[in-house]
Amino acid sequence: MSNTNTFAPVPSSLSFEKIGLPKKSSIAVVGAGAFGGWTSLYLLRSGFDVTLIDAWGAGNSRSSSGDETRVIRSTYGANEFYFDLNVRALELWREHEVSWNKQLFFNSGVLWFCYQEKNSIIDDSIPFSQKHKMEYHYLSAADLKKRYPTINTEDVHHAWFDPHGGYLKARESCLTVNEAFVREGGKFILASAKPGNISSKRMEPISLSSGEHASADVYVFACGAWLGQLFPELLGPRLTCTKQEVYYFGTPKDNAGAYNQMPVWVDLDGHDFYYGIPSNANRGFKIGVDLRGEIFDPTTGDRTFSRETIAQARKFIAHRFPGLKNAPVVESRVCPYESSSDGNFIFERHHDAENVWILGGGSGHGFKHGPALGELVARTFSI
Ligand SMILES: Cc1cc2nc3c(=O)[nH]c(=O)nc-3n(C[C@H](O)[C@H](O)[C@H](O)COP(=O)(O)OP(=O)(O)OC[C@H]3O[C@@H](n4cnc5c(N)ncnc54)[C@H](O)[C@@H]3O)c2cc1C
Repeated sequence: MSNTNTFAPVPSSLSFEKIGLPKKSSIAVVGAGAFGGWTSLYLLRSGFDVTLIDAWGAGNSRSSSGDETRVIRSTYGANEFYFDLNVRALELWREHEVSWNKQLFFNSGVLWFCYQEKNSIIDDSIPFSQKHKMEYHYLSAADLKKRYPTINTEDVHHAWFDPHGGYLKARESCLTVNEAFVREGGKFILASAKPGNISSKRMEPISLSSGEHASADVYVFACGAWLGQLFPELLGPRLTCTKQEVYYFGTPKDNAGAYNQMPVWVDLDGHDFYYGIPSNANRGFKIGVDLRGEIFDPTTGDRTFSRETIAQARKFIAHRFPGLKNAPVVESRVCPYESSSDGNFIFERHHDAENVWILGGGSGHGFKHGPALGELVARTFSI
């Protein structure tokens, strides 16, 4: 098992230099997850003729974006690119909630449990939080205990509370983005797509499982954990797909509110990085283990959880939230991490086909950035 760090990847070298396609150019986007869905919507709004294709539909159970909820936080250590990207994402999530009249962002705040006085993941983000007037609040272990009596604070040095973050409804927002895309004039096709042959530096039309072909001026493959299989030579060595598990524990019937009203939390133990979404859209106290799981096939992989990983999560939860020691697992999810070698997203032109772009490498932290990333990609394609 490797453990690249989801919470503070090395500084991003993503390039968003102008591509500049003529307006009305046709673009086929494959993959309707957080990356492909938002990108299609913004490409459409930029004047392109956009077709979006997904094998199982937006927010499906196999996709990384298909879980109930995902954390949204700006904190990324010294990585200002992701801090700023998230600030823009927050604005766009809020704007869309208003225009769609649907709550997708839950501003519960994010609580970071720190074991030592210094914690670079938080400390190095503080200047960015000040720059954006999005300050965090320092809580001593005693403050923490007083404010959240359900937390065992005995090994916590202090905590930081970020009042600006929280969680997003994940699969529901993918469906909502897809509905908006179709409503605003985009074409959605439910089919599995196979890249076309490449000749003279161009990809030929992609073939669909329906037997038809989809032809466009440009193809964007935003296929999450499937990218390594679709482009084995280009991406196989750079993207690793692992089995990741999250569990939803049932809260006590006579004290559910104490947990439900808690913020999202991240435990900075420096190794396993447990994190949780206590209210989790009323689906149970969610806990995730950030340790990289076994190599996983996102199409055929078994989606039942492993005894070993849940035992780790149980041990942690009994320690940090003793009131949940014997809590039942009311739901669980297995989702694929599609991790790039340095934890950064990938947006690049195919080396051998100038009409093909790859968008992916969410690396366990991509969901929240969907709208801001989609906006950036669409700007890149626009003149
Ligand atoms: C357990 C877990 C916890 C996470 N926690 C967070 C978090 O708290 N906050 C956060 O911001 N991020 C988090 N992430 C990361 C985030 O979920 C992903 O980075 C993001 O969802 C990736 O979106 P995507 O669109 O690239 O991929 P996906 O959502 O996987 O979408 C890819 C789509 O492509 C389609 N597809 C694939 N191949 C084909 C094909 N050949 N033809 C047609 N369609 C195809 C699939 O059906 C799928 O819908 C987490 C991920 C996991 C697994």
